[in-house]
Amino acid sequence: MADQTPAPSGPSSGTPMVRMTGVNKHFGDLHVLRDIDLEVARGEVVVVLGPSGSGKSTLCRAINRLEPVDGGTVEIDGTPLPAEGRDLAKLRSDVGMVFQQFNLFAHMTILDNVTLAPTRVRGKSKSEAQERARTLLDRVGIGNQSDKYPAQLSGGQQQRVAIARALAMEPKVMLFDEPTSALDPEMVGEVVEVMSGLAKDGMTMVVVTHEMGFARRTAHRVVFMADGEIVEDTTPDSFFSRPATERARDFLGKIL
Ligand code: ADP
Ligand code: MG
Repeated sequence: MADQTPAPSGPSSGTPMVRMTGVNKHFGDLHVLRDIDLEVARGEVVVVLGPSGSGKSTLCRAINRLEPVDGGTVEIDGTPLPAEGRDLAKLRSDVGMVFQQFNLFAHMTILDNVTLAPTRVRGKSKSEAQERARTLLDRVGIGNQSDKYPAQLSGGQQQRVAIARALAMEPKVMLFDEPTSALDPEMVGEVVEVMSGLAKDGMTMVVVTHEMGFARRTAHRVVFMADGEIVEDTTPDSFFSRPATERARDFLGKIL
Protein backbone atom coordinates (compact mmCIF):
# COMPACT_ATOMS: atom_id res chain seq x y z
CA MET A 1 0.00 0.00 0.00
CA ALA A 2 1.20 3.50 -0.75
CA ASP A 3 2.54 5.52 2.14
CA GLN A 4 -0.30 7.85 3.13
CA THR A 5 1.78 9.93 5.54
CA PRO A 6 1.36 13.57 4.59
CA ALA A 7 4.49 15.38 3.49
CA PRO A 8 6.03 17.37 6.35
CA SER A 9 6.25 20.52 4.30
CA GLY A 10 4.29 22.44 1.75
CA PRO A 11 1.47 24.95 1.84
CA SER A 12 -1.57 24.09 3.92
CA SER A 13 -5.07 25.45 3.63
CA GLY A 14 -6.78 27.56 6.29
CA THR A 15 -5.94 31.06 7.46
CA PRO A 16 -3.00 32.40 5.46
CA MET A 17 0.11 33.11 7.52
CA VAL A 18 0.58 36.42 5.70
CA ARG A 19 -2.18 38.33 3.98
CA MET A 20 -1.60 41.70 2.37
CA THR A 21 -4.64 43.40 0.94
CA GLY A 22 -4.53 46.55 -1.16
CA VAL A 23 -1.20 47.66 0.25
CA ASN A 24 0.21 50.91 -1.09
CA LYS A 25 3.38 52.75 -0.20
CA HIS A 26 4.81 56.04 -1.42
CA PHE A 27 8.18 57.62 -0.81
CA GLY A 28 7.33 61.22 -1.67
CA ASP A 29 6.12 61.16 -5.27
CA LEU A 30 7.44 57.66 -5.82
CA HIS A 31 4.70 55.02 -5.73
CA VAL A 32 6.75 52.05 -4.50
CA LEU A 33 4.04 49.48 -3.71
CA ARG A 34 0.92 49.52 -5.88
CA ASP A 35 -2.18 47.74 -4.67
CA ILE A 36 -0.33 44.70 -3.38
CA ASP A 37 -2.50 41.66 -2.69
CA LEU A 38 -0.43 38.74 -1.46
CA GLU A 39 -1.27 35.67 0.55
CA VAL A 40 1.30 33.24 1.89
CA ALA A 41 -0.07 29.98 3.22
CA ARG A 42 1.23 28.24 6.32
CA GLY A 43 4.26 26.20 5.28
CA GLU A 44 4.56 27.92 1.94
CA VAL A 45 7.85 29.19 0.47
CA VAL A 46 7.40 32.23 -1.77
CA VAL A 47 10.37 33.60 -3.69
CA VAL A 48 10.10 37.25 -4.71
CA LEU A 49 11.96 38.19 -7.88
CA GLY A 50 12.24 41.42 -9.79
CA PRO A 51 14.63 44.06 -11.03
CA SER A 52 16.48 46.35 -8.65
CA GLY A 53 14.18 49.09 -7.40
CA SER A 54 10.98 47.14 -8.11
CA GLY A 55 9.93 47.24 -4.43
CA LYS A 56 11.01 43.82 -3.14
CA SER A 57 12.68 45.11 0.03
CA THR A 58 9.85 47.52 0.73
CA LEU A 59 7.39 44.64 0.38
CA CYS A 60 9.34 42.59 2.94
CA ARG A 61 9.57 45.52 5.32
CA ALA A 62 5.87 46.23 4.92
CA ILE A 63 5.07 42.70 6.07
CA ASN A 64 6.30 43.48 9.59
CA ARG A 65 5.76 47.25 9.41
CA LEU A 66 9.41 48.12 9.57
CA GLU A 67 8.03 50.30 6.79
CA PRO A 68 4.66 51.88 7.55
CA VAL A 69 2.26 51.61 4.62
CA ASP A 70 -0.07 54.30 3.26
CA GLY A 71 -3.05 52.08 2.74
CA GLY A 72 -4.28 48.53 2.86
CA THR A 73 -3.93 45.90 5.54
CA VAL A 74 -1.32 43.36 6.58
CA GLU A 75 -2.42 40.37 8.62
CA ILE A 76 -0.15 37.82 10.27
CA ASP A 77 -1.86 34.52 10.96
CA GLY A 78 -5.26 36.19 10.79
CA THR A 79 -4.44 39.14 13.05
CA PRO A 80 -4.15 42.62 11.49
CA LEU A 81 -0.88 44.37 12.28
CA PRO A 82 -1.64 47.43 14.37
CA ALA A 83 0.07 50.70 13.44
CA GLU A 84 2.08 50.92 16.65
CA GLY A 85 2.35 50.03 20.31
CA ARG A 86 2.81 46.87 22.30
CA ASP A 87 0.60 44.76 20.08
CA LEU A 88 2.74 45.68 17.10
CA ALA A 89 5.90 44.61 18.94
CA LYS A 90 4.27 41.31 19.85
CA LEU A 91 3.08 40.56 16.32
CA ARG A 92 6.32 41.76 14.81
CA SER A 93 8.21 39.23 16.87
CA ASP A 94 6.20 36.54 15.03
CA VAL A 95 8.03 37.62 11.88
CA GLY A 96 11.73 36.76 11.70
CA MET A 97 13.85 38.77 9.32
CA VAL A 98 17.25 38.12 7.78
CA PHE A 99 18.93 40.85 5.76
CA GLN A 100 21.77 41.07 3.29
CA GLN A 101 23.93 42.54 6.05
CA PHE A 102 24.00 40.17 8.99
CA ASN A 103 23.72 42.94 11.63
CA LEU A 104 25.17 40.83 14.44
CA PHE A 105 26.26 42.62 17.61
CA ALA A 106 30.03 42.77 17.22
CA HIS A 107 30.83 43.06 20.93
CA MET A 108 28.76 39.99 21.88
CA THR A 109 29.55 36.31 21.50
CA ILE A 110 27.61 34.21 19.03
CA LEU A 111 25.66 32.60 21.87
CA ASP A 112 24.79 36.01 23.38
CA ASN A 113 23.68 37.29 19.97
CA VAL A 114 21.18 34.45 19.77
CA THR A 115 19.92 34.64 23.38
CA LEU A 116 19.56 38.43 23.64
CA ALA A 117 16.07 38.88 22.20
CA PRO A 118 14.49 35.77 23.75
CA THR A 119 15.62 36.87 27.23
CA ARG A 120 14.89 40.60 26.79
CA VAL A 121 11.73 40.46 24.68
CA ARG A 122 10.23 37.06 25.37
CA GLY A 123 11.23 36.95 29.02
CA LYS A 124 12.89 33.55 28.80
CA SER A 125 15.33 32.50 31.48
CA LYS A 126 18.98 32.63 30.49
CA SER A 127 19.41 28.87 30.74
CA GLU A 128 16.30 28.15 28.68
CA ALA A 129 17.38 30.65 26.02
CA GLN A 130 20.89 29.21 25.93
CA GLU A 131 19.65 25.66 25.55
CA ARG A 132 17.47 26.65 22.62
CA ALA A 133 20.26 28.78 21.12
CA ARG A 134 22.65 25.82 21.21
CA THR A 135 20.11 23.63 19.45
CA LEU A 136 19.60 26.28 16.77
CA LEU A 137 23.32 26.88 16.33
CA ASP A 138 23.80 23.13 15.89
CA ARG A 139 21.01 23.13 13.33
CA VAL A 140 22.76 25.80 11.23
CA GLY A 141 26.12 24.07 11.67
CA ILE A 142 27.73 26.60 14.04
CA GLY A 143 27.42 24.63 17.28
CA ASN A 144 31.15 24.63 17.97
CA GLN A 145 31.57 28.39 17.44
CA SER A 146 29.20 29.72 20.07
CA ASP A 147 31.85 31.38 22.26
CA LYS A 148 33.45 33.27 19.39
CA TYR A 149 32.72 36.83 18.29
CA PRO A 150 31.16 37.65 14.91
CA ALA A 151 34.41 39.00 13.40
CA GLN A 152 36.03 35.59 13.99
CA LEU A 153 33.51 33.92 11.68
CA SER A 154 33.25 33.91 7.90
CA GLY A 155 30.43 35.76 6.20
CA GLY A 156 28.56 32.53 5.55
CA GLN A 157 28.87 31.53 9.19
CA GLN A 158 27.71 34.97 10.35
CA GLN A 159 24.66 34.78 8.12
CA ARG A 160 23.84 31.35 9.55
CA VAL A 161 24.07 32.87 13.04
CA ALA A 162 21.70 35.63 11.91
CA ILE A 163 19.24 32.93 10.81
CA ALA A 164 19.57 31.14 14.17
CA ARG A 165 19.03 34.45 15.95
CA ALA A 166 15.82 35.06 14.04
CA LEU A 167 14.63 31.49 14.71
CA ALA A 168 15.29 31.94 18.43
CA MET A 169 12.18 34.12 18.61
CA GLU A 170 10.11 31.19 17.33
CA PRO A 171 8.68 33.19 14.44
CA LYS A 172 5.65 32.04 12.49
CA VAL A 173 7.14 33.31 9.26
CA MET A 174 10.67 34.12 8.12
CA LEU A 175 11.50 36.92 5.69
CA PHE A 176 14.81 36.82 3.85
CA ASP A 177 15.92 39.89 1.91
CA GLU A 178 18.81 38.91 -0.36
CA PRO A 179 20.47 36.86 2.38
CA THR A 180 23.33 35.70 0.15
CA SER A 181 24.00 38.87 -1.84
CA ALA A 182 26.81 40.11 0.42
CA LEU A 183 28.58 36.74 0.57
CA ASP A 184 31.61 35.52 -1.28
CA PRO A 185 30.44 33.01 -3.89
CA GLU A 186 31.88 29.98 -2.10
CA MET A 187 29.72 30.73 0.96
CA VAL A 188 26.39 31.07 -0.80
CA GLY A 189 25.76 27.32 -0.83
CA GLU A 190 25.97 26.82 2.94
CA VAL A 191 23.38 29.55 3.57
CA VAL A 192 21.07 28.29 0.83
CA GLU A 193 21.34 24.83 2.37
CA VAL A 194 20.17 26.13 5.76
CA MET A 195 17.24 27.89 4.08
CA SER A 196 16.31 24.75 2.16
CA GLY A 197 16.36 22.79 5.41
CA LEU A 198 14.01 25.28 7.03
CA ALA A 199 11.66 25.03 4.07
CA LYS A 200 11.71 21.26 4.31
CA ASP A 201 10.83 21.49 8.00
CA GLY A 202 7.71 23.41 7.05
CA MET A 203 8.69 27.00 7.85
CA THR A 204 6.63 29.68 6.10
CA MET A 205 9.10 31.78 4.15
CA VAL A 206 9.19 34.86 1.94
CA VAL A 207 12.55 35.02 0.20
CA VAL A 208 13.96 37.78 -1.98
CA THR A 209 16.92 36.21 -3.73
CA HIS A 210 18.90 36.00 -6.92
CA GLU A 211 19.58 32.32 -6.28
CA MET A 212 17.54 30.87 -9.09
CA GLY A 213 18.49 27.33 -8.06
CA PHE A 214 16.75 27.90 -4.72
CA ALA A 215 13.74 29.42 -6.49
CA ARG A 216 13.42 26.46 -8.86
CA ARG A 217 14.04 23.70 -6.34
CA THR A 218 12.55 24.98 -3.12
CA ALA A 219 9.92 27.64 -3.78
CA HIS A 220 6.27 26.70 -4.01
CA ARG A 221 5.54 30.01 -5.71
CA VAL A 222 7.36 32.77 -7.50
CA VAL A 223 6.12 36.35 -7.21
CA PHE A 224 7.60 38.63 -9.84
CA MET A 225 7.56 42.37 -9.15
CA ALA A 226 8.14 45.29 -11.48
CA ASP A 227 7.64 48.99 -10.70
CA GLY A 228 5.96 48.27 -7.38
CA GLU A 229 3.42 45.84 -8.77
CA ILE A 230 3.07 42.09 -8.56
CA VAL A 231 3.18 41.27 -12.24
CA GLU A 232 3.25 37.46 -12.03
CA ASP A 233 2.37 35.06 -9.24
CA THR A 234 2.81 31.47 -10.30
CA THR A 235 4.75 28.24 -9.84
CA PRO A 236 8.52 28.26 -10.35
CA ASP A 237 8.15 25.86 -13.25
CA SER A 238 5.68 28.05 -15.07
CA PHE A 239 7.59 31.25 -14.28
CA PHE A 240 10.92 29.99 -15.57
CA SER A 241 9.68 28.03 -18.56
CA ARG A 242 6.63 30.07 -19.57
CA PRO A 243 6.88 33.65 -18.24
CA ALA A 244 3.60 35.34 -19.11
CA THR A 245 4.73 38.93 -19.43
CA GLU A 246 7.30 40.81 -21.48
CA ARG A 247 8.76 42.26 -18.28
CA ALA A 248 9.38 38.82 -16.82
CA ARG A 249 10.90 37.59 -20.09
CA ASP A 250 13.14 40.64 -20.16
CA PHE A 251 14.20 40.05 -16.52
CA LEU A 252 14.92 36.37 -17.10
CA GLY A 253 16.86 37.19 -20.26
CA LYS A 254 19.18 39.36 -18.19
CA ILE A 255 19.79 37.01 -15.28
CA LEU A 256 19.82 33.53 -16.80
P1 ADP B 1 14.24 46.48 -4.42
O1 ADP B 1 14.44 45.84 -3.10
O2 ADP B 1 13.37 45.71 -5.35
O3 ADP B 1 15.55 46.84 -5.09
P2 ADP B 1 13.26 48.70 -2.88
O4 ADP B 1 12.04 48.23 -2.19
O5 ADP B 1 14.50 48.78 -2.07
O6 ADP B 1 13.48 47.86 -4.21
O7 ADP B 1 13.01 50.15 -3.46
C1 ADP B 1 11.90 50.46 -4.28
C2 ADP B 1 11.98 51.92 -4.67
O8 ADP B 1 11.80 52.73 -3.51
C3 ADP B 1 13.31 52.33 -5.27
O9 ADP B 1 13.06 53.28 -6.28
C4 ADP B 1 14.04 52.95 -4.10
O10 ADP B 1 14.97 53.91 -4.55
C5 ADP B 1 12.91 53.60 -3.33
N1 ADP B 1 13.18 53.66 -1.89
C6 ADP B 1 13.41 52.61 -1.06
N2 ADP B 1 13.56 53.00 0.21
C7 ADP B 1 13.41 54.36 0.19
C8 ADP B 1 13.45 55.38 1.20
N3 ADP B 1 13.66 55.08 2.49
N4 ADP B 1 13.27 56.66 0.80
C9 ADP B 1 13.04 56.97 -0.49
N5 ADP B 1 12.98 56.07 -1.49
C10 ADP B 1 13.17 54.78 -1.16
MG1 MG C 1 16.14 45.22 -2.12
